[in-house]
Amino acid sequence: MSTKIGFLGLGHMGAPMAANLVRAGFEVLAYDPVPAAQEQARADGATVVATAAEAAADRDVVITMLPNGKLVLDVYAELLAAAAPGTLFIDCSTIDVADAKEAAARAVSAGHRPLDAPVSGGVAGATAGTLTFMVGGAAEDFAQAREVLDVMGGKVVHCGAAGVGQAAKICNNMLLGISMIGLSEAMVLGESLGLSHQSFFDVVSTASGQSWALTSYCPVPGPVPASPANNDYRPGFATALMSKDLTLAANALQANGVHGELGTLAAAVYARFAESAADRDFSAIITEIRDNSTGPS
Ligand code: NAD
Repeated sequence: MSTKIGFLGLGHMGAPMAANLVRAGFEVLAYDPVPAAQEQARADGATVVATAAEAAADRDVVITMLPNGKLVLDVYAELLAAAAPGTLFIDCSTIDVADAKEAAARAVSAGHRPLDAPVSGGVAGATAGTLTFMVGGAAEDFAQAREVLDVMGGKVVHCGAAGVGQAAKICNNMLLGISMIGLSEAMVLGESLGLSHQSFFDVVSTASGQSWALTSYCPVPGPVPASPANNDYRPGFATALMSKDLTLAANALQANGVHGELGTLAAAVYARFAESAADRDFSAIITEIRDNSTGPS
């Protein structure tokens, strides 16, 4: 592949994504400040460089996979200055819509072509190259990005202008957080009324209360053998990450004057749960609901 890639942020997600690009034949310059991440990238066949700027100079595409929006904006200051004019910047981090728009505006001012392209699918999807990409930015830039996104993803959707990829991501995860809390409350209510988990599942999975949270990610052991509940709530999707995404959604609700009572409440519920259970799968929220239930009055 002649497209030259710079990849910044080689953590849980970025490392396997970069490895898939190397495997597909792209020449990848990789940067992460953490030595263990550098080691892994080297073992995966990327060329590790010593600074962020080096990973952006003389590249066709620069991909970032970083923890938060502030870091993306900070790193962009270095990258945008170092890159050749017209470089395609693809930010795959999950960040605030406002930060994504700001990053895109700064990239355009510096003569580059930005896309926001957050993902869903977790580490398993990143490793298997089956992530879903939700992309915001210009149609012609999206068309060019397909070459690399298709390697890392199974489904790639152009959602609209700059920032709209992030919008799709936080809308989806807000709905997921709300539905997991609602499902968990209903299951704990069912427990207290003598309804077995399997009977709950058999009815609700084909009734109007059906959801992905129930049929693919059931928060109790048994009905869906692959769900994290069967593995002592090891993630999966960690509560800390769900809390982060719900905070982004709650901020967007507020910033845009949307009357989102459940989205705001879900962010508060997961922020509190993350204080004691950051590393547990987010479906473990059912254990907190159960623990805080007082029983019949
Ligand atoms: P992570 O913390 O494992 O990785 C982030 C990496 O960025 C770290 O290796 C860190 O050293 C590196 N980094 C920090 N500063 C840097 C800099 N200046 N230059 C280059 N690298 C730098 O996080 P992750 O789980 O890989 O998540 C990355 C992003 O993907 C986040 O925005 C997260 O919300 C999103 N996301 C994660 C998942 C998941 O399941 N982990 C799923 C979907 C989306």
